[in-house]
Amino acid sequence: MLFVDVILPVPLQGLFTYTLPSALQKQAKVGCRVLVPFGTKKQAMALIARVHTTMPEGLAIKEVIDLVDEQPVILPAQLDLWKWISDYYLCSIGEVFKAALPTKLKKRPTSAPSLPSLTEEGSVGALPLLSTAQSSALDQIVTQWEQSPVCLLQGVTSSGKTEIYIHLIAKAIAQGQQVLYLLPEIVLTSQLTDRLHAVFGDRLGVYHSKFADTQRANVWMRQLSDEPYDIIVGVRSSVFLPFQRLGLVIVDEEHEVNFKQQEPAPRYNARNVAILMASKAKAKTLLGTATPSLESYYNARMGKYGLVQLTERYGQVQMPEVVIIDVKELRRKRLMQGPFSPPLLEAMGEALNAGEQVILFQNRRGFAPQVQCHICGWTPRCPHCDVPLALHKRSGRMTCHYCGFVSEIPQQCPACENKDLRGHGYGTERIEDELQRLFPEARVARMDLDTTRTRTSYEQILHDFASGQTNILVGTQMVTKGLDFQNVSVVGILSAETMLNQPDFRAYERSYQMLAQVSGRAGRRQRRGRVFLQTLNAELSLIRQVVSNDFEQMYQEQMLERRSFAYPPFTRMVIIYLKHRHADIVDALARDAAVRLRTHFGSRVLGPDEPPIARVQSLFIRRIILKLETQLPLPQVRKRLIAVRTELLAEHAYSSAQIFFDVDPL
Ligand code: ADP
Ligand code: ZN
Ligand code: ZN
Repeated sequence: MLFVDVILPVPLQGLFTYTLPSALQKQAKVGCRVLVPFGTKKQAMALIARVHTTMPEGLAIKEVIDLVDEQPVILPAQLDLWKWISDYYLCSIGEVFKAALPTKLKKRPTSAPSLPSLTEEGSVGALPLLSTAQSSALDQIVTQWEQSPVCLLQGVTSSGKTEIYIHLIAKAIAQGQQVLYLLPEIVLTSQLTDRLHAVFGDRLGVYHSKFADTQRANVWMRQLSDEPYDIIVGVRSSVFLPFQRLGLVIVDEEHEVNFKQQEPAPRYNARNVAILMASKAKAKTLLGTATPSLESYYNARMGKYGLVQLTERYGQVQMPEVVIIDVKELRRKRLMQGPFSPPLLEAMGEALNAGEQVILFQNRRGFAPQVQCHICGWTPRCPHCDVPLALHKRSGRMTCHYCGFVSEIPQQCPACENKDLRGHGYGTERIEDELQRLFPEARVARMDLDTTRTRTSYEQILHDFASGQTNILVGTQMVTKGLDFQNVSVVGILSAETMLNQPDFRAYERSYQMLAQVSGRAGRRQRRGRVFLQTLNAELSLIRQVVSNDFEQMYQEQMLERRSFAYPPFTRMVIIYLKHRHADIVDALARDAAVRLRTHFGSRVLGPDEPPIARVQSLFIRRIILKLETQLPLPQVRKRLIAVRTELLAEHAYSSAQIFFDVDPL
């Protein structure tokens, strides 16, 4: 008799065994999908991970209902990777399966995908020539790869890293290799894919979550065919695509937090998965950024990765001048005009008069982050989460940015009956209104989550700005990323504080990255750009480091702290999250969990404590932090953590709790 061990898209550990009916025994292969009965489901989609003859003990074994595929839909290397992800990130392989496959491939048999044939087969468009600095960097990268398969390219903003990537891609595909080009965000793809399409034409496939699922399924199937795309540009989930001859992985903006999936499991970091995937395929990896993550920079410094630096911008463009604006001082003198300082307003006026463009960065969407009664201080909060509701004037509502809860704006304060409730603080909507008032002639556009719900809407915003139809672009962190505009002479950072004040050991690193990246949007052509950095902490060394573009000093300073407080990269961190509908139960659970964890891990266990937002979607949240020596063998850690979770969930009192792990949290 033949058996198959299958992966089911469920959070349970392990594989599930079924018998194969004799009619299917010939065709059933590892990587093919099958329909099986599972739990209350008559038919569930599963994937064959093993075919064998070993009769499992005990239970009555059910039979496979049908075989979906004649050929596998995943390759052996992918199965390997899934296994690694589930081991490393402490989740089930079923959860990886669920995250990896486009929905269409998880649901029902697919018809054969339509494969457009390659029109310009074999041809690669003309490449724009490299500067001396760029070609030297390119040579260094290739040399460094001989020593280490991973190389970090640290190139200042606008140094032309993309041009270097394009040359490396052309080289790889000329050798018959496939390339994966990872980006942190969809927002970045349109400018980039236009550029890559011009060079590589139909050899380029794009893969991201704003595309229809059918389209994603087609890309997937095409990667299995005889005519796969040579280059895939995509966001984090593209690490799950099948590659038959992967030769090069490029991770652009490698420092970006978006590479990490937060929810649901697998809570993986696509940059790290990509590095692993490349190493298994004996491919090379290039990590590119102007502001490396401290982990990657540390790896480069330690000789684990190669390091290549590009310190000049392409075409003699100067780095922008960063002007620090001491908001505290200006407030004391009552000189601030709402969220704007006089020097910023003056520079904006000059730029607009000269026909130049302005980018303003404010990391809060909506009209105001909260509503507050200015008489008694009452603030409406989300009934399901531990946060105030944000005011959205365009939609005339208040919204929770954590769970999406929406409510009407109250007519009066329920505490003191004051009828004049106002927004407190400045979100991007309010900045937009203020700009219209101050610069009535200017055309202002806003780029944040609310204005970019569809792919066409953000493409429109970018297009209008690139073509000069918009004069001022105001936005959240979306405007800080990789965008390349030629006519931006002024960048305003309205408040450096939003990041700095986060209760997180990475707050300084993040702030540096964010401030340096947004500054990098200024001054791309002849004229030196100016950045106005408004801050309440003008005296901080971090602010000086941004001004002098001194990444190295920021790194040295932060590493001292990381070392003395035993933070990554000097330790490996795992956060254990515990959630429950009742505060007293989650507290008891967290205390109990910490006691049990300490019997295994001793003083490596910190907490329990409450995260900064201790209730989301009606669940109370507690966390326990594990700081592990980096050389501690992970399989043992994994075994113990999973055992503790199983013990706890077996207790009647905790049976409806959620316990999950976040490995290498960001
Ligand atoms: P980065 O990714 O390092 O911020 P980009 O790759 O976006 O920089 O390059 C910045 C600008 O310089 C872009 O407009 C790009 O087209 C231009 N550029 C860079 N290198 C070259 C080159 N070798 N030839 C022509 N234009 C270039
Ligand atoms: Zn009131
Ligand atoms: Zn909420």
